[in-house]
Amino acid sequence: MGIWILNGLTVDVNNVQAKKHILVENDKIAKVIDVVEGSAPQTEGHEVIDAAGKLVTPGFIDMHVHLREPGFEHKENIATGTRSAARGGFTTIACMPNTRPVIDTVDTVNYILDKAATEGVVRVLPYGTITKNELGRELTDFAALKEAGVIGYTDDGVGVQSAQMMKDAMALAASIGMPIIAHCEDDTLVVGAPVSEGAFAKKHGLKGIPNESEAIHVGRDVLLAEATGVHYHVCHVSTEQSVRLIRHAKQFGIKVTAEVCPHHLVLSDEDIPGLDANWKMNPPLRTPRDVQAVIEGLEDGTIDIIVTDHAPHTEEEKEKGMMLAPFGILGFETAFSLLYTKFVLTGKWSLGFLVDRMTKKPADVFGLPYGTLEVGSAADITIVDLETEREVLKEEIVSRSKNTPFIGWKLQGWPVVTIASGKVVWS
Ligand SMILES: [Zn+2]
Repeated sequence: MGIWILNGLTVDVNNVQAKKHILVENDKIAKVIDVVEGSAPQTEGHEVIDAAGKLVTPGFIDMHVHLREPGFEHKENIATGTRSAARGGFTTIACMPNTRPVIDTVDTVNYILDKAATEGVVRVLPYGTITKNELGRELTDFAALKEAGVIGYTDDGVGVQSAQMMKDAMALAASIGMPIIAHCEDDTLVVGAPVSEGAFAKKHGLKGIPNESEAIHVGRDVLLAEATGVHYHVCHVSTEQSVRLIRHAKQFGIKVTAEVCPHHLVLSDEDIPGLDANWKMNPPLRTPRDVQAVIEGLEDGTIDIIVTDHAPHTEEEKEKGMMLAPFGILGFETAFSLLYTKFVLTGKWSLGFLVDRMTKKPADVFGLPYGTLEVGSAADITIVDLETEREVLKEEIVSRSKNTPFIGWKLQGWPVVTIASGKVVWS
């Protein structure tokens, strides 16, 4: 028995929209046919989902998430994190390796993949670390980690401080055709600040994280990427300077790609209401000028894709206040509706653009066979209600943690059915 998804609206990168009937059989897309008025496909023996008036897209892809397992299961685990992803319409997620232990051995990669297969509801692709224990001192065994199934290397959470270490990592990754994914942060410029330099820091007498702490690593790393030929991917771009450096590097043919998070596209430090740690993340919310720069960077292709940096922390941890609480906010469950409401409904972006940056484009950047509704591809499909406005309610959050600044926001564009590998995993 398969699933017929009838009368849904599909959209491509050029915003060409078409009504389609889609048949899912087993874990693949079996048929995609144009809707012709007055005729309907033979659906007998199949489950039927009526998608009339709704958007039907490839399942969203999130290349930057924290599932917190192993080691921090009080914040999130693979079971809860993948369900939270499913609620947000994501069917493929790439998990960061800053767990405990960190993902720096074949055993830990196997642990993640086994857990994802038995307890997860969406596809989980692990990253391995660049350096052992993310300490920046010794490279991990890239070839062995690749063999085990990692899709790239990153010390996300911290920057690789040594240029030589980063260059060695890039050369090694390039030699086996793998990408380096960089959290860009120069520790000599960071002084334990909870927010960015800017109006909010000034008003509250706080030290701020300067923009240069991110951009200096971007500048250094694009030069190292040029020297080594590696595919270099910049995590969560948040500053005007980083956008400028990536744009310049791309003009020179350097193999650099980049990502941006919804919160950096929608919020600046001037929006932070007070000393509430649900507004604390790394990189921090920057100035309105930076927000404008990352928007323009995404629009002109300097920044390639949208990721959430889903980063759960417990309420207890976040109640420690701006200075002591850990960095990070949830991402999965509000990503699409937030961007749809703020950019598509306001006429700034086409629907096709937003969908592309969350589906096909991330698949292309990382060479993944997902993000498409083509016949024969994985049956990863998200159905979105574009009409209903709903408030973000804390009690509806599926993630084990609740740390988001968007509670109480009224948003439109809610995933209502998520199908991953042919199974309905959210409805
Ligand atoms: Zn990071």
